[in-house]
Amino acid sequence: MTESQTLQPAMTPTTDQIRRAPKVLLHDHLDGGLRPATVLELAREQGYDRLPESDAARLGEWFRAAADSGSLERYLETFAHTCAVMQTRDALFRVASECVQDLAADGVVYAEVRYAPEQHLEAGLTLEQVVEAVNDGFREGERLAVAAGHRIRVGALLTAMRHAARALEIAELANRHRDHGVVGFDIAGAEAGFPPTRHLDAFEFLKRENNHFTIHAGEAFGLPSIWQALQWCGADRLGHGVRIIDDITVADDGTVTLGRLAAYVRDKRVPLEMCPTSNLQTGAASSYAEHPIGLLRRLRFRVTVNTDNRLMSGTSMSREFEELVQVFRYSLEDMQWFTVNAMKSAFIPFDERLAMINDVIKPGYAALRSEWLFSSELRSRG
Ligand SMILES: [Zn+2]
Repeated sequence: MTESQTLQPAMTPTTDQIRRAPKVLLHDHLDGGLRPATVLELAREQGYDRLPESDAARLGEWFRAAADSGSLERYLETFAHTCAVMQTRDALFRVASECVQDLAADGVVYAEVRYAPEQHLEAGLTLEQVVEAVNDGFREGERLAVAAGHRIRVGALLTAMRHAARALEIAELANRHRDHGVVGFDIAGAEAGFPPTRHLDAFEFLKRENNHFTIHAGEAFGLPSIWQALQWCGADRLGHGVRIIDDITVADDGTVTLGRLAAYVRDKRVPLEMCPTSNLQTGAASSYAEHPIGLLRRLRFRVTVNTDNRLMSGTSMSREFEELVQVFRYSLEDMQWFTVNAMKSAFIPFDERLAMINDVIKPGYAALRSEWLFSSELRSRG
């Protein structure tokens, strides 16, 4: 530790500063982020009668408890309910718009929100119509956010399901809508038994088109899943990637040794889309304090902080940072580091990422640091 660091206390952000700090979100599922009240209203409008609760607060609690239960059936049931009420243009538009407004109110300035178009076809929409409805909802959400005093930019990632056989079709859909609201592609679903290499045709297509994609890998399943996602499929980013920790050894004296895969991930600055609360619910980590994000940040992997499913995890970007600030004593500088990492790793063009970093993120954190300095000045004068 340098002398200046020992003399000046770390600028630990307050809860309010965490909420106001500019944040960047790369891993958030549209069908995992609905407002409980909206789920109820959409269900009523559409005559869907299988929801377990009729009160918004209790329904929100039910979603969290089901995701916490450790039961895969109950966890999957939560998405069955949200997807069931997201089958019409109006419902998709509303959910997308509210998603953007909620993120903006939480201080998110840039987000990539993902969803699987194939899961919204039950009432007769085509894949194209699903994408258009969500894009229109995102644009409406951005407009309403500005009206409420928040600026945010949102891009869509189109997800294909690992167990299904439509990955190439969805990749082509993402490619057709690039530059029109869709910024990339993703693959999600149960890792065990469904390796990403099953969908090589989709990834090869996107690479030939110079397009971007991320892959959910290394959440439940270990290193082979991460290795395949990177070295066979060519993923630009890893969804979760927490199991990369299995390729890192920390000796009793604190010496850290990286295996070949972990070294590759760090050397190549592969972005890790980490979702701490979600990882606790699925058992990929046992507590915030023991979450691999602590070690990976110290080792300067390209770590980012994300929400995954805000409804099922009862979380937000601010809540994720609050937990991390509490257990790792992260400062405003740490928060800025995570945020710049995420912005560098976004799928929008380089010049636009740079502008967000220089004109939005850095000034935002500078203002908070200046606020912190003045308030600590007042405190010391007492
Ligand atoms: Zn996810």
